[in-house]
Order: sequence, then structure tokens, then C-alpha cells
Amino acid sequence: MKVMKFGGISLGTSEGIDKVKDIIAEETQPVVIVVSALYGVTEMLLQAAEYALRADKKHEMVFSMIQNLHTDIIEKSVESDRSKRELDDEIMPLLEDLKNILRGVFLIGDLSQKTSDKIVSYGERLSSLIISKIIPNARLYDSTQFIKTTRQFNKHIPDIPLSNKLIKEYLNHVDGVAIVPGFIASSRDENDITNLGRGGSDYTASLIAAALDASVLEIWTDVDGFMTADPKIIDSAYVIEELSYIEAIELSNFGAKVIYPPTIFPVYHKNIPIRVRNSFNTTSKGTLILNKQSKDNGKVIKGISSINDTALITIQGLGMVGIIGVNHRIFRTLALNGISVFLVSQASSENSTSIGVSTPDAAISQKVLSEEFAHEIAMGSINEITVEYNLSTIAIVGQNMKNVPGVAGKFCGALGRSGISMMALTQGASETNISCVIKKENLRKALNVTHDSFFLSPYQELNLFIIGTGNVASKLLNQISRQKETLKEQNKLLMNVVGIANGRKALFNREGLALDDYYTNLMTNGVKSSPETIHNKIFEMNIFNSVFVDCTASEDISEMYKELMSHNVSIVTANKIAASSSFENYSKLKDTARVNGVKFLFETNVGAGLPIINTMNSLTNSGDKIIKLEAVLSGTLNYIFNTLSEEIPFSKAIKMSVEANFAEPDPRTDLSGLDVVRKLVILSREAGGKIEQSDVTKIPLIPQKYFERTIDEFWETISEMDESFEERRKKLELEGKRLRLVATYDNGKADRCNCKVALHEVERGHPFYDLEGSNNIIMITTERYNEHPMVIKGYGAGAAVTAAGVFADIISIANIR
Ligand code: ADP
Ligand code: ASP
Ligand code: MG
Repeated sequence: MKVMKFGGISLGTSEGIDKVKDIIAEETQPVVIVVSALYGVTEMLLQAAEYALRADKKHEMVFSMIQNLHTDIIEKSVESDRSKRELDDEIMPLLEDLKNILRGVFLIGDLSQKTSDKIVSYGERLSSLIISKIIPNARLYDSTQFIKTTRQFNKHIPDIPLSNKLIKEYLNHVDGVAIVPGFIASSRDENDITNLGRGGSDYTASLIAAALDASVLEIWTDVDGFMTADPKIIDSAYVIEELSYIEAIELSNFGAKVIYPPTIFPVYHKNIPIRVRNSFNTTSKGTLILNKQSKDNGKVIKGISSINDTALITIQGLGMVGIIGVNHRIFRTLALNGISVFLVSQASSENSTSIGVSTPDAAISQKVLSEEFAHEIAMGSINEITVEYNLSTIAIVGQNMKNVPGVAGKFCGALGRSGISMMALTQGASETNISCVIKKENLRKALNVTHDSFFLSPYQELNLFIIGTGNVASKLLNQISRQKETLKEQNKLLMNVVGIANGRKALFNREGLALDDYYTNLMTNGVKSSPETIHNKIFEMNIFNSVFVDCTASEDISEMYKELMSHNVSIVTANKIAASSSFENYSKLKDTARVNGVKFLFETNVGAGLPIINTMNSLTNSGDKIIKLEAVLSGTLNYIFNTLSEEIPFSKAIKMSVEANFAEPDPRTDLSGLDVVRKLVILSREAGGKIEQSDVTKIPLIPQKYFERTIDEFWETISEMDESFEERRKKLELEGKRLRLVATYDNGKADRCNCKVALHEVERGHPFYDLEGSNNIIMITTERYNEHPMVIKGYGAGAAVTAAGVFADIISIANIR
């Protein structure tokens, strides 16, 4: 004898029902089939009752939907016309009754528990009747005859001894297929229709399996088994092959909806295994739940589950310390009021006890506890009882964690790194469950990071917000798009662009945006962009492992970094504003990154994609000391000096640099040396200097007056400088020298006079002499690289290399776990 339970999800469509039919047809031994209501019907019934109570006509519409759903299934799934007619004859009176009851509620405006239980029972009554006509040679039984309930506080709970006896009487002689409606029952004393609570069909099946000593209880649903987490939230959740009863109870108690928690106990008692299977995929063997230490999956935990709606009641007061009996009074009071407590955390000082209850129970808990401790509260030995709402509970479960050190640490670390703080944390001495209460808004993220850190991962995930759609950003998005598959295959890294924004539009999608037509998508489907919109959306999405990639030159955007990092979002930026802002701000940003365990990377701020900052950091981290930095950091100026010749005067060379897209449309940003100053400030800081932009000595390239004129005036007058530059060029040519704008940081000099940007005449043979096109070069003199400084040289400008540098920064974040 076998008991098989098919959930509403398996009975949602005629295709689903066909599969169920095939599964049952395979059985050769007698089977009891327990069925839920058709998919969504229980919810609709409760909804219709609610509308009727509020005298809302919509209850009729919901009723029609329920009716159509059933007649539609009959039309599609029942084979012969005769059976259809017979079934219609039986179904119609049931539907008529339901309609009348709803109308009664509508007219009277009263919905008692008894009426509500009656209304909701139609789901299983209708579904079992229909299924009994679809499955050949099946016989329908009425579970209200043998599943009996009694009252405990406000709830119906099964009277197990009586139900056991009756189940045996009614079902002992099943020799083919018995169909039984799940969920519904009747009260022992009044014989009113009752039920076993939402999800209760599993429980019906378990009670029957236990009473009949079934060989196995099969729970058929729409997932391949009990999984490491709810697959509807965690994409990478996978099936657990085996679980012990204890593990299954812990997981389901903490919200793994796949099994209704009370289901486990009756079969556990009789040592009957449970198998969870997928009616849509019979090739999967599912999960076996049995009475022994389950098969080791090589991981310290078996699964993660969560309860969405948690409230935390705190009883606190110095007067509680050392007093015997406070806890007894807390739990007795809650129990007497029928409140179930699923989490308790008490500080060893005994000065506070926090209790996790479900949200609907919170207000009443607060009231009854306040009454119980009224005297102590009045005396001030216990504070007012507080309740915190909008919380969730997340639990990690597994018998293997017993005696394994560091599991709680890993759990807390994973949450901490994602900026999720814990309001209460508990671990039972049995060490099969560690649970913690967190803010509800963090639940999804918490599940993801916990799953990621305990189970996985073949893949690590990075979620990117890319700001800017200019040259660098578009190259970057192209590069990501091309490299994505390789990173996934070879580096097991999943790169998800979850947000793109420019100055006009912003578009977000937590599942990831397609990168081929992102621009059209952004401009057509994006919302109006602003730093606030971007900021709010990132916080609202609250995604784990996220990286904010700034490819703009905007100050507003750079001002967002600190708060983002405080919320554990890493920053990768090509925007120089933040790293070259005041030293105080720069240090704050670095500290924020360190404190929150995230990255603040800006390699491309100097020398585009050249590995300058990374190299300097590697040197200093390994104990070397930077003594001096000398660098040519302006690709534009270098281009200008390299282009100067007898035929090409200074003014023409400037024009050419603009045309070649090296310089900004207003080339004075480069000519002023300001850009180089910023880069030098950043480098000096990375080398350990406390430098401000104003500390850099800058010898101007051209007189100040050129910067005070309009851009048009500048273009009209700059040729005045041609002659002097040509003279200098000729002289230098004879001497075998070239002009370079050199930035220098000299650690040997006192602060404030150790940074300089000036034109140098470099001799043939000097490393800066042969510096083609717009290339950059940096010479790093350190204690170790002393006589022969380290030289890094290459393209120092250009969208493609900058994008590549940004990309490399992003990838380097993947190492944080
Ligand atoms: P049924 O109608 O078959 O009773 P339920 O909706 O009650 O189905 O339970 C199945 C659902 O449980 C799955 O669709 C899945 O979303 C959810 N679920 C939650 N946690 C888990 C888990 N750890 N493993 C598998 N499914 C889970
Ligand atoms: N139909 C009931 C519910 O939706 C019972 C069940 O499906 O197990 O809660
Ligand atoms: Mg269920």
C-alpha cells in the first residue's frame, strides 16, 4: 500500500492532470491518492468569501472563475461525453451550494470561521470528484468521515487516535485506486466541516499513510524534490537527494513550503519514508526523507529556508537578571493564548529575551505579555514590551553541522559582507539549525548570499550597475557581452548587468539586461534618470554582490559612492573626481570600502588600462616603499609634442589632437595641466602621500591669459605661441632632446613640495624620450627597484583600453567571497 499526494500545482491544467493520470497508471499495488484543490482554487475561495463579507459584488466574478476553471478541466480531461454529463450532474449541485453560501455571506455580512471553513472545503470536494472520474476504476472516499479534528485554542488540530481508527475502518480494504480529498476534515464533536490548515493536504496524506502502515508516502508537486532553497527565489538551488526527518522538519518549519510541517511527524513515528517528486518530470528521483542520518552531500548544511513574515517581541529589563520564572511566565502566557513561538534568543546576562512570532500573532503577544508583566513594568524592573515588525527569519539546516566549527561564523560572515545585520540569532544545542532574524527587505539578498556561500558554487555572480553610455561605457558593455560566455565557462563567473543609466534614462532588471540592444531598450523602456532615481533603485533592488560602475565624469554620480559602499556595493570608476577630491573625502571612501568589505577601484583614473595603481599597491602591500614617481600622463600633450615639426606648428598640433579625439573639444583642460595634476594627486596618495590638488606645483605651459579667454578667442590667438614653441623645438632637436610634460612625486621631499607638474626637456636615451603617439609612461623608484626603476608604458588614453581597465577592475572583485 502506497499513499500518493498530488498538490494543486500538479493539478493546475489538463496537461498536468494527464501526467498525474499516467503516474497513477504505472502503479501495480493498491494506492490511496490524496488530492488538493485545483491550482489557485483555495486562494480564490477565500478571496470570494472576503469580497462577499465586504458586500462586494466581485465575489460573483470570482465564483464564475472558479466555476469556469472546473468546467474547463472537465471538458478537456474527461474522455467520454457520458462521463462528462454524469460529472456535470454531480458538480453542478456542489457549485450551486457554494454560490448560495457566498450569497448568504454577501447578504448577511457575516463570515464565521465555520462558514469560511465550509466555503474553502469546496476546492478539495470539487477536485477529488473530478479526479475520481478521470482516473480509471478509481473510487472516491470522503475524508470528512475519517479525518476528525478537535479544537486547540483557535485552531483545529487532528484527533489522531480517532482519525487513525476511522481511517483503518474506511480505507483498509482498498485494493485499487482510492481517491481522497486532502485538507478537509470534520470536527469530532459537532461534525462541522473543518480543515488541517493551508497546505494541509500533505498532512491528510501523512495521517493516512501512518494509519495504514503504507510502504511510502509520495508527495508529488512541481519541483524535482526538496531543494537546497526555494527554487522560485534562488535560481541555483538544487535537489537534495536525502534528508533525515529532523532536517525535513527543520526546513519545512522554517518555510520550505514544499512540505506542510506537521506532515512529517505521523510517518516519522511509523518510520515510513517520504519521497518528494515532480509530476512534471518523472525522470527525477526526487528527495527521500527517512529515519537516519541522511546521505552526506559533502556540504555542512543541507538547505536554507525562510519565513517571510516575522515579528520580534522583546522583553527586556535589568530586573529580569537572575530571577527565576520569567521565561516560564513568558511561554505560559503565550501558550495560553494559542501563540506559537518559533524562535527564542536570550542573552546570557538574562537581561533580555527576544521571541520570534508570526506577524499576525504579534499584537496579541504584546498585549498579553504587557498584562502578564504589568506589575514589573509599573515598577520599572521590566521595560515596555516592544515589537519589531517587517522582519523575516532565515535558517540554515543540516545534521552535518554538528561539531563542525565555523558554520555560524560563515553564515554571519556571508550576511555581514552583504551589509545585512542580524536582529536575533539562535542555534539549538542539537546543532541542526541556525536561524536568524533580519529585516524583510534583506531577505532575498540574504538567501542568495547564504546559498552562494554554503552550496556553490559552480558559479560566482556579479551584478553590475553601469552608469554612462558614452564611449567608455559602450565599449565596456561590448566587451562584457563578448566575454560573458567565456567567463562563465572558464572562470565560473556570471556577469549580470542589472542596471544601465545615462543622463536621460535609467533601466533596471534584477534578472539581467540583454546587452545586444541595450541602448534602444534603455531609451525606449527606461525611466527618467537622475542620481536620486539611480540611488533609490539600487537600494530597493538590494542585490547581493553588486558593483556600481561609473563611466561618467559627473560629480553628482561620484558623490553616491560613499553611501553605496556603506550598503556593500563595490565601486569601479573611470571617473577621476572622487579619488582626486579632498584628501579627507578620498580617505573616507577608502575607509568605507575597508569597513564594509567592498572594493573601491579606480585603476583607469591614471593611464587608462595600464596596470599602474594595481602595481603600486602590489609593491607596497608586499613591503616595498615607493621613493619616487615620474610620469608622462597626458596622452594629449604627448601627442602634441610628438606631432610638432617644421610643418606643423603648436596651434595646428593642438587642433589635430582635438580632431583625433585625444583632447576634449576645449583642449585647455589638457593644456592647463589640470588633468595631469589630478592624476598625480591620485598616484601620490596611493604611494602614501597626504596630498591635495593645491599642493602640486604646476609650471604653466602657456600664459594664463589663454585660459581666461573664450574658446573662440583661444583658437584665434593661440598661434601667437607657435613661434616660441618652434624655436624651442628646433633648439631641442639640435641638442637631441624632446619636450615632455612630466609629473613627479618625490617622497624624499617634504610634504607639499614633493609634487610637481612641469615641462621637461628629456635627452635621447631617457626612457621618456621615445614615447610614441599618445602613450603614457611611469617610472616607479622603490627601495627594491632602485637603481633600475620599474617602467610601465603603453596606451594611456582611448575608450577601448579604458573600458578594458574598468573590466579588469570588475573581474578582480569576483575574488571577494
Ligand atoms: P503543492 O501545490 O504541490 O502543495 P506547494 O506550492 O505547496 O505545492 O509547494 C511546492 C513549492 O514549494 C515549490 O513550487 C517551491 O516554490 C516551494 N519551495 C519552497 N522551498 C522549497 C524547497 N526548499 N525545495 C523545493 N521547493 C520549495
Ligand atoms: N488546498 C489547500 C491549500 O491551498 C491545501 C493544500 O493544497 O495542501 O492550502
Ligand atoms: Mg503544498
